[in-house]
Amino acid sequence: MPFKSGFVAIVGRPNVGKSTLLNALVGHKVAIVSNKPQTTRNRIQGIVNRPNAQIVFIDTPGIHRADTALDKQMMEEVKQALDGIDIACLIVDATRDFAPGDHYSLDRVRHFRGKSFLLLNKIDRVPDKRKLLPLMETFSREHNFTEVFPVSALTGDGLNELIESLIAYLPEGPPLFPEDQSTDQPERFLAAEIVREKVLTHTREEVPHAVAVLLDSFEEGERLVRIRATIYVEREGQKGIVIGRGGEMLKKIGTGARKELETLLGTKIFLELFVKVERNWRQNSAIVRQLDWHRQLEQLSRE
Ligand code: GDP
Ligand code: MG
Repeated sequence: MPFKSGFVAIVGRPNVGKSTLLNALVGHKVAIVSNKPQTTRNRIQGIVNRPNAQIVFIDTPGIHRADTALDKQMMEEVKQALDGIDIACLIVDATRDFAPGDHYSLDRVRHFRGKSFLLLNKIDRVPDKRKLLPLMETFSREHNFTEVFPVSALTGDGLNELIESLIAYLPEGPPLFPEDQSTDQPERFLAAEIVREKVLTHTREEVPHAVAVLLDSFEEGERLVRIRATIYVEREGQKGIVIGRGGEMLKKIGTGARKELETLLGTKIFLELFVKVERNWRQNSAIVRQLDWHRQLEQLSRE
């Protein structure tokens, strides 16, 4: 059997489970997850190896209206993710009815010339599978999908069937990445993302959207990795929330992030966190650019 390889983008509205799906397919965490919308800000590749194929999945920010510089950057990431790929997977939340916002994501898929799959996610929460039919029909009326798959990114239900079917449609070709590589995302960036995920877990309302995390240093020693990171917020009040009474919240964020990073990187971590106010950073293109690691890597390689 010829070896197959290619790129598959995962697109859809915020919170439908794109990043959870990517992690489940790869088998460990490469993208952070939260119950708040717009958690994912950059496109991230996760690589799945099979004896006969390699699939490079691309997770993307949720498709939404772009108001701030950050929003515009996020929607640019979606556009870039769909550029030059083989298959687009539109993922939707099967527990929800078709909504006007779905037209945005359908438009993205319609403009894509390659094959497209519809994934109905979160079927672990739909005990009666007949309930999936109306949603399936509505989406199929809007766009002629190549395949439709009910899945659960949380339980893994349907994922093997999905992978097999994707492989069937992928072109013949050699592996694009070494077999031991599971993501294109540098460890430094993943570390900052894990810190941000812990902030998202412990905060509510406007705070999650106002948070950015940038690494100040990442030093690999013999026995441990030393990481210094700054959590940026937009207002003094948000800084107070992230630090918490007597520094308790920041401690909780730090401990959670350190433990997870130790597991992910397989080494002891010394993590130091700082919190700074940077007014309206989401409107500030210079800061938004700093958060874009694709651009940063390009710059480094040019220097
Ligand atoms: P994204 O914004 O599309 O990347 O969505 P996330 O992957 O961050 O997930 C959003 C929320 O949906 C999180 O709370 C996930 O735990 C939850 N979620 C994702 N997939 C599933 C699923 O298959 N079943 C259930 N019950 N929840 C899910
Ligand atoms: Mg996401």
